[in-house]
Amino acid sequence: GATIGILGSGQLGRMLAQSARQMGYRVFTLSPEKDSPTGQIADCEVVADYADLDAIEQFAQSVDVVTFEFENVASEATAVAARHAPVRPDGQVLHITQNRLREKQALSSAGLPLTPFVPVSDLASLTEAIATLGCPAILKTAGFGYDGKGQVRINQPAEAQSAWAGIGEQPAVLEQVVDFELELSVVAARGLNGQVVDYGLIENRHSQHILDLSIADLPLSATQTAAAREIAHGVLETLGVVGVLCVEMFLTKSGDLLINEVAPRPHNSGHLTIEGCATSQFAQQLRAVCGLPLGDTTRHSAVAMANLLGDLWQIDGKPQTPDWSQALANSCVNLHLYGKAEPRPGRKMGHITALGATREEAAQNALAARAALTSH
Ligand code: ATP
Ligand code: MG
Ligand code: MG
Repeated sequence: GATIGILGSGQLGRMLAQSARQMGYRVFTLSPEKDSPTGQIADCEVVADYADLDAIEQFAQSVDVVTFEFENVASEATAVAARHAPVRPDGQVLHITQNRLREKQALSSAGLPLTPFVPVSDLASLTEAIATLGCPAILKTAGFGYDGKGQVRINQPAEAQSAWAGIGEQPAVLEQVVDFELELSVVAARGLNGQVVDYGLIENRHSQHILDLSIADLPLSATQTAAAREIAHGVLETLGVVGVLCVEMFLTKSGDLLINEVAPRPHNSGHLTIEGCATSQFAQQLRAVCGLPLGDTTRHSAVAMANLLGDLWQIDGKPQTPDWSQALANSCVNLHLYGKAEPRPGRKMGHITALGATREEAAQNALAARAALTSH
């Protein structure tokens, strides 16, 4: 059978590897981490730095296709890999989306709607950017941000200097704070032949800048629903993505859709496709990167997903493993744990998926199952 090469080794790679093994593929993973969530599932775990071009080259020689679960792989590494195996999505997609500024510039020049932003390269340009956009605003590092890391909110112009220091004085983007009605995402996939499919609108609720709850089938108007899907398809086509990509958006109070950011891979908000849809986002990613026909995205049930952060492993300050039977008492609940040894606060350790008769009921089921872990 063919071998899938995954650069990166977290939970996204783990669930991709689980799908790949189900379909009879062998899985090799490369990352700096040993006994990683992906490595535990893979046939072969290569421990190497993403900047180790010799290791990347050897890795690409031993697999049939290279894909990612981690975006911060340099162009040099993807170029070396591409000499030996198809890299999907390609290095250019990674290069653009691993940098907020490049991403925003690429999408806005394609006419896609984005949160108002201004590039920032030093304190003077930050001061100017604040004058342009007004306050409140959010300063975000251009590279290496996730779960709200590398971001500082600026409530008044006088905070410019402390914000610039706060993000470590590095290239950044200033964004207007959007007074949004809600946040949503569209997880979509594009095949090798250019076919695009999506999983509809997913509502996302965050807590402390980290995704907390996702609920499928956000009921917006027909026009807004079509617009959100069109934006997602536009992103995949603009970037020429082969694979799954998620577009995070804000719905503003005035009913406009604005792109917050995109992720060129399966996404946390798409985990509910595993139990909820005919083809999971991970099976879809495999189909796309292997050049297979895409799968049916039909949802068979109302479904919601609640993240399990490391905080749950502490009760009254004392370390403790949650009692999973409490969450599983409701038969419509499914548990996913990522095999991470150290439960740190804010760290994504797993998630709960719940079905229901309606989306509200599915969300309640997911939240109640999680709450049951700490309320006994
Ligand atoms: P991840 O990659 O884990 O989704 P990230 O670190 O790239 O997170 P963002 O998605 O940019 O961070 O921001 C995290 C959350 O912070 C958003 O989902 C949203 O709730 C809030 N946020 C970010 N930018 C803005 C903005 N311009 N206006 C209002 N809220 C924002
Ligand atoms: Mg992000
Ligand atoms: Mg985000």
